[in-house]
Order: sequence, then C-alpha cells, then structure tokens
Amino acid sequence: MGRRQLWRRVSAIPSVNYFVPVGPPMAAFGEVQLLVEEAEAIRLKDLNKLEQEQCAEKMNISQSTFSRLLDSARQKIADALLNGKAIRIEGGNYEMAMRRFRCLQGHEWEVPFEQMISSPPESCPECETPSIMPLFPPGTLRGGHGWGRRSRR
Ligand SMILES: [Zn+2]
Repeated sequence: MGRRQLWRRVSAIPSVNYFVPVGPPMAAFGEVQLLVEEAEAIRLKDLNKLEQEQCAEKMNISQSTFSRLLDSARQKIADALLNGKAIRIEGGNYEMAMRRFRCLQGHEWEVPFEQMISSPPESCPECETPSIMPLFPPGTLRGGHGWGRRSRR
C-alpha cells in the first residue's frame, strides 16, 4: 500500500482508552482523538523519561518525526484538560512491537515484530497445532493498520 514508512512501532496499548470530564452532560464537551502512537510517544518520553533519541529508536522513526508526534500529543492532551474535552485513544499508523497469539487449545504466546517479518508463526510452540490466531489488544480493531501487515506465503 506504500504506507510502510508511516508505521510507528508501539510496545504498549493503554488499558483505558476513553476519558471524560466529570460534571457536564456528555453532549456538552468535545472530544479529542489521541492516536495510539501519540500515546506511545507520551509514554516513552514523559512517563518513562527516555531521551528523545531512544524514544525515536524504540518507535523505529526519525527524531524529527518523534518530536512532531510528541508535540501533537501534548497539544491534544492540553486541549482536553484545559478546555474540558474527552480523550479517546484510538487509531493511527502503528505496528505492535510484540504480537500475542493464541491456539485452539488456549495456549498464548508473544512473537517479537522482527520475527513476525522473517518467520511468522505457523503453529503453537506448545502443542504444535496449526490452528492459531493473533489476539487484538483492546482499542486497536478500528485503527491498527499494523495488524494487517501479516505476510502470507
Ligand atoms: Zn497450543
């Protein structure tokens, strides 16, 4: 699809992806959409206090791209907090650094992204059944283009 360079690598999806102000009725406040990769930028830089260079490396993007993501994320969060808007964390162009799989027997395991590219799993490592499926983290079904990147041979 020619979008490959746009994918940002994300290691964690926030477990809560919707925040609303307390007080005004739902219809009274606007909503800000924070992309999953913007949340990841905040997580790495502001929460984990990593250097910008490390953050960019972890997300597999340039420092200037990371810087733009971070600015955009902070602007949206400020807008929500100070103007009383809801925040929805959803969508974007990202790929998961780790992907979780489950087999028919209920075994679950994780596969690093690099391995997904070189040799995607074809069977369960525990019981060897070929009936396996990727698990989708909450909040990623609508916007996670990265999940469509499985290569089929
Ligand atoms: Zn299994």
